[in-house]
Amino acid sequence: MLDNFPLSKGHTLVVPKRHITDLSELKDSEKLDVFNTIAKVEKALMETIGCEGTDLRQHFRPFLPETQLSIRHVHFHVIPRGYNDELFMRAMKYQRSIRQRLSSKEKKDMGIRILKNLE
Ligand SMILES: [Zn+2]
Repeated sequence: MLDNFPLSKGHTLVVPKRHITDLSELKDSEKLDVFNTIAKVEKALMETIGCEGTDLRQHFRPFLPETQLSIRHVHFHVIPRGYNDELFMRAMKYQRSIRQRLSSKEKKDMGIRILKNLE
């Protein structure tokens, strides 16, 4: 389905049929279906829109208040992108002030902490 407030033309949502709120609830067969669908949607968008590529996003935002959640169902955003598109220019404007380079120690320590929680 198409996003009601698209970030770019053709911004598409891929939504699993079964109602679930958390990515970890997806069964292996559903993961396969979802990613096969995403790959088909990306190809279709490139042919239809003529975009150079896509961004793929999955929002998991249980921290948001109910009133700010427009959809409480696992879904993936497939966003058509192009060289020097407006999204890139806007993102670069803010990324420089938000993103901070990690030192090699910070990167290593965070990697170890995350790995400990992988099952
Ligand atoms: Zn979303």
